[in-house]
Amino acid sequence: MKIHEYQAKDIFRKYQIAVPNGKPAFTVDEAVTVAKSISTHGPWVVKAQIHAGGRGKGGGVKLAKSLDEVRTHSEAILGMTLITHQTGPEGKLVKRLLIEEGCNIASEFYLAVTLDRVSSQLVIMASPAGGMDIEHVAANTPEKIFKEWINPMVGLRDFQCRRLASKMGFTGTTAKGFTDILKKLIRLFIDTDCGLAEINPLVVTKEGGVLAVDAKVDFEENSLYRHPSLLELRDHNEEDPSETAAKRFDLSYISLDGNIGCMVNGAGLAMATMDILKYEGGNAANFLDVGGGATEEKVKEAFKIILSDKKVKAVLVNIFGGIMKCDVIALGIIAAVKDLKLAIPLVVRLEGTNVDLGKKLLNDSGLKLETATGMKEAAQKAVVAAGGGNK
Ligand code: GDP
Ligand code: MN
Repeated sequence: MKIHEYQAKDIFRKYQIAVPNGKPAFTVDEAVTVAKSISTHGPWVVKAQIHAGGRGKGGGVKLAKSLDEVRTHSEAILGMTLITHQTGPEGKLVKRLLIEEGCNIASEFYLAVTLDRVSSQLVIMASPAGGMDIEHVAANTPEKIFKEWINPMVGLRDFQCRRLASKMGFTGTTAKGFTDILKKLIRLFIDTDCGLAEINPLVVTKEGGVLAVDAKVDFEENSLYRHPSLLELRDHNEEDPSETAAKRFDLSYISLDGNIGCMVNGAGLAMATMDILKYEGGNAANFLDVGGGATEEKVKEAFKIILSDKKVKAVLVNIFGGIMKCDVIALGIIAAVKDLKLAIPLVVRLEGTNVDLGKKLLNDSGLKLETATGMKEAAQKAVVAAGGGNK
């Protein structure tokens, strides 16, 4: 679960990670009031709050030297559709602002903690080439990104901090400030079950202070039950509405870029379905696991969610009837298709208990759908139904 920068900075404050003085604002008037309350003189920074980075380059971060400028920048940013390399071409509507005290930036660094799934350890990534072009650095000069892995048995060692600080070019008080923030960021990461905690830029000010000018925190969805207070930070406006609807019905749904809607039970089968579609030259429009007990209601909700995606040109149902029998699933599919007046091609592959009865029900239903035997045939039929693949 992603949260806004101002929310992440509130958490940083709890962990005593230095951040600029600032507060969120939901209207232009509020932005001016907040600016007055945090500082008697400028500069202030007006920052769009969306769940995507690259705001600076997209015009979503502006420096204001006076309260009048706070007003004009807030008017421009609030309500704008901000397009950045992370939002996709449709962009994101800005509904919240963060108003901060500006700081005197001497240099910008990058610091992040994430999970390295290969080594099963947390990895720290740090770079002296921080700021707005970190993706460029990662792609072209990866040697400028330094890494340290944290052994879960012993935690971060002091020599690792010193090694990292020295590679980053920090000495004396800046080295101390950097190490301090690094240790607190790791504590925050572990305490709150993050997937990513990132500071870009981590700033050294002209006065020699070290502080987090940007803050990005992404929590592990599957651990959120352990942190009920974090759930309040969720902003549904920023999330894919289909994914929100799926959560309500306990369906695991992730939207993707392809045009074949997939309804599958079991995460492993869902992954395999996406793979075989790709192999046959097609592309899945989503990952959807309806779970072991694919009830009629769930099947119907799953169809609704898949069909709400306008990219979907065909639907592939690939269900193994183990807990639920295939005939029961077939009845669920038939009811859902009739109810929703499905207008695009549907390919169904059932396997498992009572599969023959299930297929007979589908074939006798009079509905325009194709049944398939085996994953390969199902994938091939789905790719053709969606208008052919790229094979
Ligand atoms: P992002 O582009 O979405 O990652 O947004 P950031 O919060 O990282 O802001 C983008 C850039 O704005 C930073 O890299 C800084 O160069 C600049 N910026 C942000 N806050 C300040 C500030 O207080 N003073 C100055 N001079 N620049 C700032
Ligand atoms: Mn940033």
